Order: sequence, then structure tokens, then C-alpha cells
Amino acid sequence: MNPASHFLIGWTIANTVDIPRRDRILVTLSGVAPDIDGLGIIAEVLTENTTAQLLWYSQYHHVLGHNLLMGMILTAAVWVFGRRRWLSAFLAFLVFHLHLIGDLIGSRGPDGYQWPIPYLFPFSNKWTLAWQGQWELNAWPNFLITSIVLGIAAYLTWKRCRSPLEIFSKRADSALVARMHRRFGAP
Ligand SMILES: [Zn+2]
Repeated sequence: MNPASHFLIGWTIANTVDIPRRDRILVTLSGVAPDIDGLGIIAEVLTENTTAQLLWYSQYHHVLGHNLLMGMILTAAVWVFGRRRWLSAFLAFLVFHLHLIGDLIGSRGPDGYQWPIPYLFPFSNKWTLAWQGQWELNAWPNFLITSIVLGIAAYLTWKRCRSPLEIFSKRADSALVARMHRRFGAP
């Protein structure tokens, strides 16, 4: 799945309970963080027509950030920096794994490549995960899942007076919530 879907899923899960904004940010980011290993695409594209192309995307995407060790590092970081430590760390661990599941079911490349997930990297290449039924990154089930999560997020925005924008800007968040309340009435 694409990072925007992971972001929305993470924020929605973070809002199933009542934790402070700082924790909601940490949990949400834990759901997107694995895809940092996709940033190698910049180097890969920039060096595309050179004799020494860097294959950082092809080699490291779905590897460096998509494994249990990374999940545990993120969980520990949320435990350290969160206020509701145990609950938020648990949620971070959960959204991290929802990210992996989302990728397993819906991240097939246009070329058919499955981007297998080496769950025990870098310690072992056992449990390298891939699912036969995996659909493409831009296939309809991903749009359906994202639309459903977007609907839930919109409801939560109205009901709980905060939106996914709170991750980036408290002002933009308040503006969106006020707009929704004008449009649909107060919760
Ligand atoms: Zn991913």
C-alpha cells in the first residue's frame, strides 16, 4: 500500500483510544516509518543514466524498514517518548504490523514483483513473507480500503474534534474541524 494509506490507518488506530496528541503523532508515524526505506528511489532515479547506478530502492525497499527489528525499535521509541507509554507502544507495534500486512496483500508492482518482506532481517532470511493472492499497488481493493479508512477518519474528525492534519499543524487541524462542524453541525 502507499504511504498515504498507511498514514490514515495509523492515525485511525491511534484514535480508537484516548491518548495525548504527542502519542497519536508517534503511533501514526510508526505506521508510515517503514517506507523510509523507499527514499533510496531518489538516488536510484538520479543515477539512472550513469554507469554506476545506485540500486538503493530495488535493493533496500521493503527490506531495511520492513522487519521485526524495525518494529521493535519503533515500539521502543514510542515507549520512551510517549506519555501513555504502554498503550501507545502497543498501538505502535500494532500499526507497524498492519503496515506489513497492507504491503503483503496489496503492493505488487506493475511488473508483477511481489516485494517480499524479510521479517527476520538482518538476522535470518527465514520468514521472508509474500502472499500469492497479492494485488497491485493501484488495484481497486487498495482504493476500497483507503476509502473506508478515510470515511472512519472523517467521522472521527467530526466526532473527536481532531483530524489527521494534527500530525502536521494544529492550526490546519482546527480549521478543518471548524469547517466540518459548520457543515455537518456540532457532534
Ligand atoms: Zn511499506
